[in-house]
Amino acid sequence: MKLKDFRYDGEKKFKLSDYPTEVKGIKEHKEELLKKTAENIAKIAELQDRLYADANESVLILFQAMDAAGKDGTIKHVMSGINPQGVDVYSFKQPSSDELAHDFMWRIHSRTPQRGKIAIFNRSYYEDVLVARVHKLNKQYHMADRCIAMDTGTFFSKRYKHIKNYEEFLFDNGCRVVKIFLNVSKDEQKRRFLERIDNPAKNWKFSSSDIKERALWDDYMNAYSLAIENTATKDCPWYIIPADKKWYMRHLVSEAVLKALQDCKPHYPKMPKKEKLHLLDYKAMLENETD
Ligand code: ATP
Ligand code: MG
Repeated sequence: MKLKDFRYDGEKKFKLSDYPTEVKGIKEHKEELLKKTAENIAKIAELQDRLYADANESVLILFQAMDAAGKDGTIKHVMSGINPQGVDVYSFKQPSSDELAHDFMWRIHSRTPQRGKIAIFNRSYYEDVLVARVHKLNKQYHMADRCIAMDTGTFFSKRYKHIKNYEEFLFDNGCRVVKIFLNVSKDEQKRRFLERIDNPAKNWKFSSSDIKERALWDDYMNAYSLAIENTATKDCPWYIIPADKKWYMRHLVSEAVLKALQDCKPHYPKMPKKEKLHLLDYKAMLENETD
């Protein structure tokens, strides 16, 4: 299977169950795919350098997933070759009271990448249609009735529309948005939680709230389905990446990040002819220095 098999651009009907959490027949190609991942990481670093120099477009890569799907590890691995000056990583946790007193994009917009840079969002504004939908947070918001007095479906349909419009706005203003859902199975999550409990070095990664959210698995899958189906577009697609095998997940994420950077077609700025001639003068000056 190729990256495009995991890409959803909103053109057809979406069914999350059509997207596997594990792909058969990849084990035989593991060596070859690991080599390709390393090559992709090197190419990402090279393109990021050009993007930074060109500075006419930016890339926002956001990760959404259930707990223990591997967001942190994937970000660390796939972005490992990148010059830290060209990338910012933000984690979005539960909103503060100040953030809750504003619209849900308020804390987001100032973190979108300036042209030339890459931003990684570890969770994102999609939480406002995921955890917010699962826990019916819309019923708790302190907002005027005209904003919240409606059924849940209508409330979140409006949010999908706002997100879609916002991403189109970003795209039209020079920022490409790549949306990645790390699609882990419920069984694999259980295995990883047990490992976090059994391994003292991993205890810190486990929290009791992980178990509470796991109990709402089906509600989360429904919220993910609706969010993906209603916000994917040709310009800002979703990638639904099988996450049960970490090495394969990282391979596909490296492909998605590489594609986004290739789509930017970044070039090192060309020096005007006149300035290039000056360079030759400077070169002669340096070569003729006496001390
Ligand atoms: P890890 O567990 O791997 O350290 P994490 O991303 O799960 O990383 P946590 O601190 O465990 O980080 O959880 C952050 C929590 O914040 C998540 O449960 C998420 O659903 C919640 N959250 C993020 N954004 C919002 C939001 N806009 N509204 C409500 N809850 C949110
Ligand atoms: Mg967590």
